[in-house]
Amino acid sequence: MSSQRYITMGEQKGRRSWAEPWKIKMVEPISMISRSEREKAIQEAGYNTFLLRSKDVYIDLLTDSGTSAMSDRQWAGMMLGDEAYAGSVNFYNLEKAIQEIYGYEYIVPTHQGRGAEHLISHAEIRKGQYVPGNMYFTTTRLHQELAGGIFVDVIIDEAHDPYHIDPFKGNIDLRKVENLVKEKGAENIAYISLAGTVNMAGGQPVSMANVKALRKLCDQHGLKLYLDATRMVENSLFIQLSESGYKKKKVAEILKEFCDYTDGAWMSGKKDHLVNIGGWVAVRDKNLADRLRNAVVVYEGLHTYGGMAGRDMEAMAIGIRESVEDDHIKSRVGQVLYLGELLVNWGIPIVRPVGGHAIFLDARAFYPHIPQDQFPAQVLASELYMDSGIRSMERGVVSAGRDPQTGDHRYPKLELTRLAIPRRVYTEAHMDVIAESVKMVYEDRKNIKGFKMVYEPEYLRFFQARFERL
Ligand SMILES: *Cc1c(COP(=O)(O)O)cnc(C)c1O
Repeated sequence: MSSQRYITMGEQKGRRSWAEPWKIKMVEPISMISRSEREKAIQEAGYNTFLLRSKDVYIDLLTDSGTSAMSDRQWAGMMLGDEAYAGSVNFYNLEKAIQEIYGYEYIVPTHQGRGAEHLISHAEIRKGQYVPGNMYFTTTRLHQELAGGIFVDVIIDEAHDPYHIDPFKGNIDLRKVENLVKEKGAENIAYISLAGTVNMAGGQPVSMANVKALRKLCDQHGLKLYLDATRMVENSLFIQLSESGYKKKKVAEILKEFCDYTDGAWMSGKKDHLVNIGGWVAVRDKNLADRLRNAVVVYEGLHTYGGMAGRDMEAMAIGIRESVEDDHIKSRVGQVLYLGELLVNWGIPIVRPVGGHAIFLDARAFYPHIPQDQFPAQVLASELYMDSGIRSMERGVVSAGRDPQTGDHRYPKLELTRLAIPRRVYTEAHMDVIAESVKMVYEDRKNIKGFKMVYEPEYLRFFQARFERL
């Protein structure tokens, strides 16, 4: 199947099979409640999977954020927490890991990714400035807007087509950036906001060639380039798999090279870094670092803990090093590709190529009879939960929110339901059960009705909105 990416592990070149580079030491029992209990639970949750109780969930694919399994080394690190208010040993371990693996000089820890987004947005955006980015991410764009910025999507057009096969559908269209500079002037652009991989496009990566070209363009116009590094390890594996010249390079080398082209980064450690909480922002410019360090004490905590306990920083420092091991990241992404391949083989409409952290079901293709303002992806997430207790999330019109200028819904081209796979948590048998449930829901797609929204919070509405069946 030409649409698929393949993983081969080390010595087994040319062979399809691979296995996880770990064994299980501790288990957490899970069970499935009955169909009638699931129907009651989702109704009480206002048909929003974020409002379900996790005890009512069988396989939890709501998010890959903070849901990873830590290693025995990370748990051992938790016992080495230095909970001093200032100058914790664990902060210096974390700082060293980020400096070595990502290559940035100045590190400011935050409680999670959005804390870092808040700090950098406030430090680097003046009111009315434009912030071009490769497709929006919910919390990223909100913090840019709250800081007075105007987000502009400059991702390549192909990213909006769920079936267009391109190994680097996360790339920025340089002409779109050039045009923005021409039209608005470089002084009115705060910075370029580059994410690797692009979550809302289906976990699609950015190529090394693209970041190199972007660096050049930024230098020509005196622009800054900041990276959302949340899933940059997964992005680096895709470069190794698909971009010429990188086959023999280690993921860690590729990551470092990519970061070298950027002026700084923010991070949700809850994704790539295999921890349950944590984040950071890191930059090369001393003056900016000073401003970030000053802001962090207002919003997060002192600049040597930023909202994390010492033990959390230690677990993240260890997780950073584990995350860039080639065997780890291949098995992580390989599991997602395995699930994707099952679904594609059964003719189920999913975003292709399959990305690094999740499968994205194309809700428009499931329910062509449900208009977008009746929330087809939200409906699909509910149907999947009712079928098998699997929890997924809407990534469509609900997540896109309202246009701050007009107040209307934003209607994204992609109306998706995301099955995010936590790292090191579920087995291949779980993947089979998930695929079978998706198939059942796909076969039953004909008579499903849409929703109306009956409660809508002002910010990031997808987290707390409530719905009723029409
Ligand atoms: C999760 C995420 C964030 C925000 O991080 P939190 O840790 O959830 O606050 C930012 N960018 C991307 C791409 C993410 O996936």
